[in-house]
Amino acid sequence: MRLIWVLIIIMAGSLTGYLFTRFERSPPVIETRTTPIYLGTKGSHEFYVFDEGTGIETVRVYLRKGDLVLELLNETYPGNMFTGADVNIQRHIQINLNPEEIELPDGSARLVIEARDYSWFGNRSEVGIPMFIDTKAPPISLETGLTYVRRGGAEAVVYRVDEENVRHGIELGDYFFPGFPHPADPERSLAFYVFPPHAQPGQGPVVVATDRAHNRSEVRVPIEVIERSFPRDRIELSDPFMQLKVTELLGSPDGDLLSAYLKINNEMRSENARKIRDICRTSSEDQLWSGAFLQLPNSKVGARFAEHRTYLYAGRTVDTQLHMGYDLASTAHAPVLAANDGVVIFAEPLGIYGNTVILDHGLGLFSLYGHLSEISITHREAVSRGDPLGKTGTTGLAGGDHLHFAMLIHGVFVDPLEWFDPRWIKEHIEPKLSLLLIEGG
Ligand SMILES: [Zn+2]
Repeated sequence: MRLIWVLIIIMAGSLTGYLFTRFERSPPVIETRTTPIYLGTKGSHEFYVFDEGTGIETVRVYLRKGDLVLELLNETYPGNMFTGADVNIQRHIQINLNPEEIELPDGSARLVIEARDYSWFGNRSEVGIPMFIDTKAPPISLETGLTYVRRGGAEAVVYRVDEENVRHGIELGDYFFPGFPHPADPERSLAFYVFPPHAQPGQGPVVVATDRAHNRSEVRVPIEVIERSFPRDRIELSDPFMQLKVTELLGSPDGDLLSAYLKINNEMRSENARKIRDICRTSSEDQLWSGAFLQLPNSKVGARFAEHRTYLYAGRTVDTQLHMGYDLASTAHAPVLAANDGVVIFAEPLGIYGNTVILDHGLGLFSLYGHLSEISITHREAVSRGDPLGKTGTTGLAGGDHLHFAMLIHGVFVDPLEWFDPRWIKEHIEPKLSLLLIEGG
């Protein structure tokens, strides 16, 4: 008798337990790891759906646009009302969308995913993702005509992009030079670019614009390249010079002197170049500079831009490098002056450049001053053309006392010579800044 009661209690207990799991109330969980809200000509969404109570029964995905409802998926998963489905299965759902293929017009829409579990309550979850369908590439109109650009030199392009929230600028090989709101008309854009010394034949600037839905437009800028050759120099490395620089820049490393020096000339040089690119990634949207850039007063040019240097040790070639600035020598510890108005964005030691100052002149333009014996300004300080920044010296990879002066556009070195030249500024840059030569400008 007692045994029967025990059995009845156990069975009732199991039944309660069973009914409890069948009547669970926790809705399915819908997770999405991709939420691209802007949909271009192609897009894909991924969802993960699971239910720990009774397992997933159905998943439905549809797109709602105004009155239009477009079903994209309707799936029932194996299971039944008595045992449910495997609760350990996480359903992975991928929805590929191609608005043009399904003839979906541009505009706002909502992607909805709906899941139901095997509970006798039929718990339901829904996630709606607001979307903006945009299948049209941003229209670009180029406003500058054919320009002559010197190899290693700079140029500017004026253009319009008639769409909001677009990333635009000039692409040239691997380089990207972002466009800025034009100082004379914010409806237009202005981008400076460098025609790099090593640019391949046929390579040239292209205005590119990419919107939030990843639609991309391109317009090639017509240019005529003024070819030139770059100077070459041979540098004889001596033990005392290498010893001095290795001690200054690396302390007392293991191994032989030459390998330590080559480490500085290669690894440190490229590390410094990367850092400079990072420092010059963002520039003021205001044009802080005007007119020609100032060359170090009473200075003699030691080495020029893109000079190809062969390093020799004991009569043997041990390295080659490009010199991406101007070496300007005056008297020892001569005052170094700001080449134009700008803001100090860097004022500290920087590897082979020694004590270095970098100025942001706005619209992507920067100037760099290296090998200083002392720095007399501070980070974030605003300076005017001719303001003292410090004194020339020999810090970093410098033999004699001189200023290493470099100009950069968005972190890419450019020949400073053009920027020293008021005529070049007047003929090449000013018309684009004032919109003088532009039709309707
Ligand atoms: Zn130099």
